[in-house]
Order: sequence, then C-alpha cells, then structure tokens
Amino acid sequence: MSAPIKECPHCHSKEGYYSKERVYGSVNWKYNFDGSEADNSAAYDYLTTKSGKCAYCRACDKKLFNMSEAEGNHEGTQTYCR
Ligand SMILES: [Zn+2]
Repeated sequence: MSAPIKECPHCHSKEGYYSKERVYGSVNWKYNFDGSEADNSAAYDYLTTKSGKCAYCRACDKKLFNMSEAEGNHEGTQTYCR
C-alpha cells in the first residue's frame, strides 16, 4: 500500500501527501457540574468519516493521484479525483 509516485512531480518534495477527510455528525460533549470537562475520549466515535479520493502534496497542495491507486485498486473507475 505505497504511493504510486515517490515524490511530487510539481515541486519534487518527498515530504508526503494527504487526503481530505470529511467528518459528519454531532457529539455530546460532557461536563461535570463543577464546570470541568468529563471524559470525552469516546465522543468522536459517533462521527462519520468520509475519506477523500484525491491525494495532495503536503508541500505545494497540488493534486497528485487517486487515493485508490495507493490502495492497490487499479480497477476502480468511479473513484477518479478531478
Ligand atoms: Zn508538491
């Protein structure tokens, strides 16, 4: 599961890439009656994450490739990022 390229073709950075994740939902953020925050470590379990399809360069933010290529799925035709 490695990226199809080793460096950014635009700026030649080897820093890496990122995908844009969309997060939906609401959480119950808990407090104690003294005003302090309670244990909210499970709050984000209720959120829905939608993964982005495009990989972007971490240095110059240009689109690099389709994330499905990094996952070894070369047959995916509906997942092209534009
Ligand atoms: Zn770049």
